[in-house]
Amino acid sequence: MADYVLAIDQGTTSSRAIVFNHAGEIHSTGQLEHDQIFPKAGWVEHNPEQIWSNVREAVGLALTRGNVTHSDIAAVGITNQRETAVVWDKSTGKPVYNAIVWQDTRTQKIVDELGGDEGADKYKSIVGLPLATYFSGPKVKWILDNVEGAREAADRGDLLFGNTDTWVLWNMTGGPEGGVHVTDVTNASRTMLMDLDTLSWREDIASDMGIPMSMLPEIRSSSEVYGKGRQRGMLPDVPIAGILGDQQAATFGQACFEVGQAKNTYGTGNFILINTGTEKVMSKNGLLTTVCYKIGDNDPVYALEGSVAVTGSLVQWMRDNLGMFEDAPDVEWMAKKVDDNGGAYFVPAFSGLFAPYWRSDARGALVGLTRFVNRNHIARAALEATAYQSREVVDAMNADSGVDLTELRVDGGMVANELLMQFQADQLGVDVVRPEVAETTALGAAYAAGIAVGFWDGEQDVIDNWNEGKRWSPNMDGDERDRLYRNWKKAVTKTMDWVD
Ligand code: ADP
Repeated sequence: MADYVLAIDQGTTSSRAIVFNHAGEIHSTGQLEHDQIFPKAGWVEHNPEQIWSNVREAVGLALTRGNVTHSDIAAVGITNQRETAVVWDKSTGKPVYNAIVWQDTRTQKIVDELGGDEGADKYKSIVGLPLATYFSGPKVKWILDNVEGAREAADRGDLLFGNTDTWVLWNMTGGPEGGVHVTDVTNASRTMLMDLDTLSWREDIASDMGIPMSMLPEIRSSSEVYGKGRQRGMLPDVPIAGILGDQQAATFGQACFEVGQAKNTYGTGNFILINTGTEKVMSKNGLLTTVCYKIGDNDPVYALEGSVAVTGSLVQWMRDNLGMFEDAPDVEWMAKKVDDNGGAYFVPAFSGLFAPYWRSDARGALVGLTRFVNRNHIARAALEATAYQSREVVDAMNADSGVDLTELRVDGGMVANELLMQFQADQLGVDVVRPEVAETTALGAAYAAGIAVGFWDGEQDVIDNWNEGKRWSPNMDGDERDRLYRNWKKAVTKTMDWVD
């Protein structure tokens, strides 16, 4: 009897494998970080072969530590850092270039040229996204334009493209020997190449970007059997049955199945998704329209999304580039040593600004400094930045939907930070709720896979398994709340027009 479902979470900083039981509780885990490669300012790469090797090792660790084997696993779900683009040779399995990561801004020129006179919203009514360096399509074009021989190989039909879900799935199912070349609707909705209504690739947009259709994976639902583990791997014959981009997976794992339910994930960046049901809502306030999930043959469910590029990675940057503390969680006790930000505001526009601005030309700014400000104030300003950026997205969501959000479910690495969670509730003016199992990304992928093979019956099981862990309620004077936010908005204006 298979008592467990395995989730593989191929994230931006690490790859995790988590074995879940039927109650949606963690049984065992394995995790390995991979290298962040920064070849030039604004460029961010990962080594796809290192990622695949880390995934295998993480799975091995999770199985060994949990004392389970492949026969105990009913299904495998995959969730992944979205938009990050891998291009590889289908007969050798070798990537032709490193993975270009979602935060990478090298495609700025390509994106400007693609927009031409029509500008950033050229494809928005079809794909739900503005032209921005964030998405995969322009990254693939960059690889084909810049890697020697890549364009010819692509035209011959020798190259495959995928986000890291597809890369991991293809390798897990046999690689050059019969690997399945598939993605799910949520990942496809982040490429700029998928029509949100038909859920199929747009040949005209792919052609504008010079991407041959033969490179593109087949688009499938988020919950169905795509293939089985290869014979010589650790999971022979185990169905791989769920794929969701990480943010959609977290929305699923947070059981946001009703229209108007929203979650915010605090990781490298912040990502707020609000379920808009089977209706696709186009934002007038800088949000993305994206597929939230599609279970088998059911209708797709859509979401509005506000993506913030830099939140937790600002804490990493203060740790690694400034040496302000040893571990990311240390930022909290530093910030607690002071009562407020001392007048300092830190806008971490390291990858430009994403929602609701979409300004690739923005760069980071630390403003409001006086001799009074010390490193504790700056630690606090960094945490506050996460909360202000999230508030900007929630304000945009309220404006788009005409209904105010009543509660925000939260998850991700930064939600361990209590000071941040309280400040977030203060800034939003609504309750912030953390579930008992904060690994909602992996959990969402596990549920999608488990539902496909009948391990779980459907969404109701997810709702039944979701339990509240901790709740923070707003506790700040309204004038103070507004004053801080006004100053933040002023600070944001200092970040624009930095790129010549
Ligand atoms: P991802 O899935 O994007 O790789 P995680 O959800 O694992 O990220 O979150 C890790 C991020 O959270 C890192 O950027 C780290 O700097 C930040 N982080 C972790 N713990 C804390 C904390 N206690 N306070 C503030 N930031 C934290």
